[in-house]
Amino acid sequence: MARFQVPDGSTAQAYKFALDPTPAQVRTFRSHAGAARKAHNTMLAAVKAALDQRHAERTYGLAEDELTPALNWSLAGLRKAWNSRKHVVAPWWAENSKEAYNTGLDALARGLEAWSKSRKGQRAGKAVGFPRYKTARSRRSVRFTTGTIRVETDRHHVTLPRLGRIRTHESTRKLARRIENGTARILSATVSEDSSGRWHVAFQVLVQRTVEVPGHVGLGEPVVGVDVGVKADSLIVVATPDGREVDRISAPKSLSAAQARLRALQRRAARQRGPYDPATKTKQTPSNRWRKTQRRIGRAHAHAAAVRLDVLHKATTALARRHRVIVVETLNASGMRSAGGAYKRGLNRALADAALAQIRRMLSYKTRWYGSTVVEADRFFPSSKTCSGCGRRKPNLTLADRMYVCEHCGVMIDRDRNAAINLARLGETHRTGDTGTGTGSSSAATDSGGDGRGAMQESATTRVVDAAGEEASTRHDNTVGRTGTASSEGEAA
Ligand SMILES: [Zn+2]
Repeated sequence: MARFQVPDGSTAQAYKFALDPTPAQVRTFRSHAGAARKAHNTMLAAVKAALDQRHAERTYGLAEDELTPALNWSLAGLRKAWNSRKHVVAPWWAENSKEAYNTGLDALARGLEAWSKSRKGQRAGKAVGFPRYKTARSRRSVRFTTGTIRVETDRHHVTLPRLGRIRTHESTRKLARRIENGTARILSATVSEDSSGRWHVAFQVLVQRTVEVPGHVGLGEPVVGVDVGVKADSLIVVATPDGREVDRISAPKSLSAAQARLRALQRRAARQRGPYDPATKTKQTPSNRWRKTQRRIGRAHAHAAAVRLDVLHKATTALARRHRVIVVETLNASGMRSAGGAYKRGLNRALADAALAQIRRMLSYKTRWYGSTVVEADRFFPSSKTCSGCGRRKPNLTLADRMYVCEHCGVMIDRDRNAAINLARLGETHRTGDTGTGTGSSSAATDSGGDGRGAMQESATTRVVDAAGEEASTRHDNTVGRTGTASSEGEAA
């Protein structure tokens, strides 16, 4: 499917709601997801067969133009080929919406394109393998782009093609309100099942944004740095360039409770008969108790994730509203993963990285709404290892050091606050906004001046994700891709 271009003044956003479907509706969901899988696997087999045939013919010495023609694996090509086969391979095809088959074919077309580009070296990142068959255990999902897609005015039902009216587990008011006042338009709806067996609908929505006058922006400190920590009592630490800590957000009790419950369930599962027997190193049939614990683990995971997301949403909204410039680090900027070791510490670091990624994503669109700016520090910027007092560096700082103690100037400071201060100073040059001093605000570090903060001048550069700039719109496309195609998210998890 061609990438959808978001018009000016609008942002694409996903609204996800848990569903309470009837058993009959669950059967329809499953049927549609199965149909998507059938189309995906049938056409994957066909593409594979054509490739194998061509390969064999080449080894017989046939010329390129004598080979069996390759299958066109664009979405349109796959759709055409599927339509000519469906009467034979899936005589029941009319029972499901055509969107179901389209979901499977779209996933396949994307997978083949990624593989092909990756093989030719046209795709950045990790090598992408040839698409695999979807199994009964693959995540079930189906995406609707046409037909009746509606959020009902009672705020507790949605209507989807073929599936009809479905009760939602939570209120849809956030989206319903926007649709009623005409500032939102639904582009598509994806119904999917999560690991705990709950069904969700994710609406991809085009939202009109009027950039709010920065009336409440700037009520707080103009420039802040944000450090995302690994400790429960300091999930997020916010500080100013002059060294004041303005906010410290700790994890709510419900989050620690959810995580404790998750660990307890995982310990329980370890004691039960799982699918692998460590004594004989063979597979075995897991016990029903083990399966039951796995379902509970899935639900506990989903709950913990929801609580965490809520905390991050509240924090990023406050940040984007209160401050003009917010500086965050990029992923794993502290470079201290290797200092881990203990399983739990490694887990926390991974959670902090995930939280940081979410914070950056949320800030990138929320700063657009409120007219503030988010600045991303270069990934090698040593925010934790630099002394906020004298600017010298301490290369041997580990995650276990909760206090930063400087041997040079004698400063003793909370580690997270120290990092947040360093980040905030990186943002000082953006204070006046883009209309500023004409020094080119894309690099915050280059003009930080000869004021003794030497370490920052070394290699640090920043990326401005500006309200009007192109950076923001390209980043935003990424966001759309990530939240919109729910399937890719599920496979990554
Ligand atoms: Zn120092």
